[in-house]
Amino acid sequence: MATSQVWFITGASSGFGEAFARYALTQGHRVVATARDTGKIAALAALAPERALVQPLDVTRDGDAEAAVAAAVARFGRIDVLVNNAGYGIVGAVEETPVAELRAQMETHFFGAAAVIRAALPQLRSQRAGAIVNISSMGGQLSFAGFGAYSASKFALEGLSEALAAEVAPFGIKVLIVEPGAFRTNLAGASMKHMPELDAYRDTVGATRTFAHAMHATQAGDPAKAAAAVDRALRAAQTPLRLQLGQDALDAVRGHAEQLLCDLAAWTPVGAATAFDEAAA
Ligand code: NDP
Repeated sequence: MATSQVWFITGASSGFGEAFARYALTQGHRVVATARDTGKIAALAALAPERALVQPLDVTRDGDAEAAVAAAVARFGRIDVLVNNAGYGIVGAVEETPVAELRAQMETHFFGAAAVIRAALPQLRSQRAGAIVNISSMGGQLSFAGFGAYSASKFALEGLSEALAAEVAPFGIKVLIVEPGAFRTNLAGASMKHMPELDAYRDTVGATRTFAHAMHATQAGDPAKAAAAVDRALRAAQTPLRLQLGQDALDAVRGHAEQLLCDLAAWTPVGAATAFDEAAA
């Protein structure tokens, strides 16, 4: 990858996106900072106006991704690192979450990211180099009561990413799925939508609602360090497919993987005994 890279970031107006943009500018890279409201990223771009391009991009709006990618290539000639970061949270039991909210969550985290990836791929393929960083979550590997909509959308993004990684590796393009734990951004504040509550879920989802409120502004994770960690993974000769960030994510994903292997081992005889008995046919 070139020493001075071009980073293209969605949702650069806050949290991780802003931290990725700041990090890349600090490293001397060129940055395409995109946001729904470009007014929110004017100050960020002013840090290095000659190396920053501000573009409007709502990942759910048809045509925005293509226009932003075209502007990026017109200005800088290439894209080295695409960071699909735009997102928001939903807290609510499955029954508490209207289908329209489920669809909206999928539109942003899954269809939105897919649209940006599809818009950027012709350029990345023509370069025969680059990286696609998809910001998932530890909730993209596991879930718990109240996070069904959020996890469903991140699981979908992870499935797409795993296939994509195999498809674009021959073109020299890396795919990195990032699974952060709790990081100090606006996700648990203005970016968290709480669904209307049903009393029946007070004991299960209630704890998640309290946790989501309490974590705001107290999360252990530092987004600036997350940006540096992602860059380190991208620069490695063997970039992993998944990168967990934060001790909470490391512990939760490890525990979940161990439980999966434990269940698989315990039920292997049952699962393995389901083939047709060809000899008896
Ligand atoms: P923030 O709320 O700080 O930032 C979210 C960003 O996404 C904002 O810039 C917001 O823009 C933008 N955004 C939301 N919807 C759209 C859209 N339709 N089109 C373009 N931009 C959009 O939260 P985070 O920085 O934490 O969130 C970034 C990503 O990190 C998300 O995908 C989230 O799921 C993921 N994540 C966060 C974790 C955490 O603990 N913070 C943990 C695991 C994953 P606007 O300013 O216009 O609202």
